[in-house]
Amino acid sequence: MDLKSNHSAPVLADPGLSNLLPCSPDLLPTVLRRKNLLLDDIRARRSWLDAMKCSSPPPYKKTKDISNELASDDKDAAYRKWMLKYPSALLSFEQITNYAKGKRIALFLDYDGTLSPIVENPDCAFMSNEMRAAVQKVAMYFPTAIVSGRSRDKVCEFVGLTELYYAGSHGMDIVGPVRQSISDGPNCVKSTDKQGKDVNLFQPASEFLPMIEEVFNSLVECTKEIKGAKVENNKFCVSVHFRNVDVESWETVGQCVLDVIKNYPRLRMTHGRKVLEIRPIINWDKGKALTFLLESIGLSDCDDVLPIYVGDDQTDEDAFKVLQEGNRGYGILVSSLPKESKAFFSLKDPQEVMEFLKSLVTWKTSSAL
Ligand SMILES: [Mg+2]
Repeated sequence: MDLKSNHSAPVLADPGLSNLLPCSPDLLPTVLRRKNLLLDDIRARRSWLDAMKCSSPPPYKKTKDISNELASDDKDAAYRKWMLKYPSALLSFEQITNYAKGKRIALFLDYDGTLSPIVENPDCAFMSNEMRAAVQKVAMYFPTAIVSGRSRDKVCEFVGLTELYYAGSHGMDIVGPVRQSISDGPNCVKSTDKQGKDVNLFQPASEFLPMIEEVFNSLVECTKEIKGAKVENNKFCVSVHFRNVDVESWETVGQCVLDVIKNYPRLRMTHGRKVLEIRPIINWDKGKALTFLLESIGLSDCDDVLPIYVGDDQTDEDAFKVLQEGNRGYGILVSSLPKESKAFFSLKDPQEVMEFLKSLVTWKTSSAL
C-alpha cells in the first residue's frame, strides 16, 4: 500500500488587495508607505476573516426547493468528485481490513463533529447513547483514545467511558497508562485517575496555566456585548465559539481576540469550525499527541501497528500529517463538504463514523471465529 499522496495543504486565500499596490513600497513616499501599512492591516484583517469563513462552512442541507435543486446537484457532483481523492472509509472498508490483517489497530477519535454533531450550544454537544455504545465496543477490541480540543475533564464527562485514553486541550493534557520510559520524561507526572488507577499525566504546557486563565477572563469581558459569542476555558487553550453569532459580527469577534492576544506574544490564534482558539506557542499539537499516545500504550516503533485517526477539524490535520508522512496509518476526515486534507479516507458525518466503528467490531469478531 502506498499511503503517500499528493494532497496539498489547505491554502487560505487573500484575494483582491494586491492589485491595489501601484509599485514597489521602497519607491513610495512616506505618505504612500503609510497607506501601504494600512493596506497591510486591511489585508491581514481580510486574511483572518477569510480564514474564519473557510474554517466554518455552512452545514450541508438537502432542500426540496426546486429552484435550489440544481445547486444541490452541483454540490453532490462536487462531493462525489472530491471522494475520488478521499474515498469513503465505509466503501473502502475491505481495503482497510485487508491491510489491517495481522496488525494491531489503534484508534484515535476527535470528539466534536466526529462523535457528536456540531450543535448551537457547545455545552450541549452530547454524543448519542448508540454512539457511546459503539465507542465502548470498539475499545474492547482496539486501544482507543479520544483526542479533543476540549478540556480533558469536559470531554471525559461527555464521553463517559473510563476504558479509553484521553487527550484534552489539543493533546496538551494527556492521561495514559503508566509506562516508565514515558514517566521519566519532562512534563510527565504519575497520578491517579478518578477510579484510583495509576496513570501518567502529561502536560507539556503547564507553565501557561495562569496566562490562559487571564486570557479567558479578558475574552469573557470583551465579547460579552457580542450576541451569541461564547468563551470556553479548555484549561490549556481558550475557545471563542461564534457558531451563534451573526456573520456580520464575525469580524468583531476576531478583532476582540486579536486585541486580547496582542499582549501575549507566547499565545497564538488558530481556526476551527466556527471557533477561534487561543493556544500556547509550543511545539505540540494533535500530531505530537498521537505519537506520544502510541508510545504510551507501547505501540510506537512497531511495524505491526495500524493507527487510524478520525477527525473533522483543521487541528486534526496535524495528526493526519504524522500518519501520511510516516506512511504508517490512515487519517480519516469527517466532512460533508469537499476540502483539502492530509487524510487518506473520508466519512460524511458522525453517523458514518458510528457505522465505521461498528464495522470494525464486526470484522474483528468475525475474523476471530
Ligand atoms: Mg472536531
